Order: sequence, then C-alpha cells, then structure tokens
Amino acid sequence: MKEAMLYTKGEKGEVQCYLCRRMCRIKPGEKGYCHVRENRDGTLYSLAYGKAVAVNVDPIEKKPFYHFMPGADCFSFSTVGCNYRCKFCQNWEISQAYGGIVGEDWPPEKIVEYTHKNNIPGIAYTYTEPTVFMEYALDTAKLAHKKEVFNVFVTNGYESDAAISEMNGRIDASRIDLKGFHDKVYKELCGEVELEGVLASIKGLYKIGHIEIINLIIPGWNDDEDDLRALSKWCAELDPNVPVHFIGFYPANKMKDVPSTKLDTLLKAREIAMDEGIKFAYSGNRMDEKSESTYCPKCGENVVRRSGFTVLENRVEGYNRCPECGEELYFVNDIKEYWKRNGKRDD
Ligand code: SF4
Repeated sequence: MKEAMLYTKGEKGEVQCYLCRRMCRIKPGEKGYCHVRENRDGTLYSLAYGKAVAVNVDPIEKKPFYHFMPGADCFSFSTVGCNYRCKFCQNWEISQAYGGIVGEDWPPEKIVEYTHKNNIPGIAYTYTEPTVFMEYALDTAKLAHKKEVFNVFVTNGYESDAAISEMNGRIDASRIDLKGFHDKVYKELCGEVELEGVLASIKGLYKIGHIEIINLIIPGWNDDEDDLRALSKWCAELDPNVPVHFIGFYPANKMKDVPSTKLDTLLKAREIAMDEGIKFAYSGNRMDEKSESTYCPKCGENVVRRSGFTVLENRVEGYNRCPECGEELYFVNDIKEYWKRNGKRDD
C-alpha cells in the first residue's frame, strides 16, 4: 500500500482521484471505481502497490507490439483491478474479481533485479489496466530505466492528461485499445466509458512516445463497415504510420453467447483500414502469416515475417529502414537510439 498520486482533498474527508478519466469522488472508508484505491481518513491509498497477481515473461508481439523492439521478451505483470467493466474481458478473474487485494510480493526492486539478471530487455505493465496501479508501474519504470530496461504500457487508454504527463519519458511505448468508434460499445459493454476521453488519451500518449492501436472486433457490436471506416479514418488522421491491429474476439466472461470473430472479418477490417490510408494494419488472434507480417508501404517488400507471436524474420535495417528501398518506417529497432531521439527519465 502506498499513498496515491494525483488526487485532491475536499470537504469532510472526501478526495477526488484524477489518475483516470473517471475522476472518482471518494468518501472516507470507500474505494474508487477500480476497487484498488481507497480513501482512509481523507488520504487516498493505492492498495495494490507491490502486489503482482499475474507474472510472466512474454514476447512483445503478444501485447501486441509489432513495431517496437520486435522479438524482445518482456517481464509482464499486473495487479488486480480495472477502471472498466468489459463484459467480454478475457482476464475478468483478476481485473473484475473484487474479493480484495491478492497477489505475490513483487516490489519494484525485485522486478527490475529479476529482469536485469535474466537479460530481459523490457517490462510490460499489462493483463489488467496498469493505469490503476500507476504508482507501482512508475516506480518500477524509473528503476528499469536506470538499468537500461525499457517500459511498455498495455492500456485501455483512459488515463487523465495529468497521468500521461507523469508517464512522459518513463513509459517508452503504449499499446492502446480502441474498442469501437461509437458510444454504444463503450457505454454498454465497458461500463459507461466516454469514447471522447479515450480519443483524447490516445492523442496524449501519441505525443509522448511510440504507440500502437488495437481494435477487438466483436461480431454484431463493432464489425459494421461504416464504424470500421470511421475508426480507421480517425487513426489515419492521427498518423497513418501508427500500426492498427484488428484482433479476433473469443467468447468470454458475460459474452459467452457471442460467436468468435472469423478471420475473414479481420481481413476485411484490415483492407478497410488500408483503404483509409493506414500504412500498417494487421490481423491478430488468428493464425495468418500474410496479414501478421509487415510490408514496406513504399516498395511492398516484406520486411518482418511473423506467425502468431513469433518473429520469423526481421529485415528492418538499422533503426527503421526498409532493406529494399531505404524508406524510413515507423519502427523502433534499437532502444538506445530511441532514447537518444525521445529522451529517457529515471527520476
Ligand atoms: S484510477 Fe480508480 S479511483 Fe482513480 S479515477 Fe480511475 S477508477 Fe476512479
């Protein structure tokens, strides 16, 4: 447990948390929407600090990041808790099971020592929503940077602007969920989330580092061509180089009666995205080497071949060049060069 960052004290012991866009007002003795931040006598605490409920070493492609340090492993962890209530959540046992704080003691020092000792190049804050354990994530990220270990956030994109400022220079890359392009999905499936807030966070995270966007396609909810076109257009206007991943849904949690997404739907979404100007669009969660691989947008050369979470061949030259025509690609193939260009904070 640690005193929380980003909150204000109000009258009668009430506090307001502004770590995420929910901006919860919390009375003494109560918790915020995420269930891991509690007001104790007028002070807000992060209850899950140092308690990791899931710990693994995963390939970065599993997050998925396809254009940031391809083939790198990441020490991956999370605490319990989330600021969404997705009816389709695959990790609902840890994100939405509010039976209290559970997990093993993994203080930031232990995580970074383990990662460094085992030559794991990066740390991923993932599985649930890392925003709700930001104090734990940033303390770990600072120590990681001191040891030249990079940090990636796997997030639903609902951080406040203040949280994004704190992440600047500490979190090197963010993979952000854009769960649909109309309020229906966000309101009815995710727990009264505002799409506009998510779009604002994506813009903020884009300004502070490398980003990739995923869209989980749920049959009957967000697979409509007009919605996919609107989502792709918005992403292309942000930056046509930002990779967009269309990934397949599996029945889970409260949506076990909805069928899995067919590969054809993902391929169609990918086509629409490219038609709208996205340079790097991918399918995911279904095996299809062709649509999981990277092609140079200028000459069409296959520069990274992938299958599932495995990089079969990475032919990106130097930091980010196509090996065939020399085109500069939206790619980070060398973390030290990335830090030179974007800065790295460890304070
Ligand atoms: S981080 Fe938790 S307590 Fe803070 S505003 Fe978001 S949901 Fe509420």
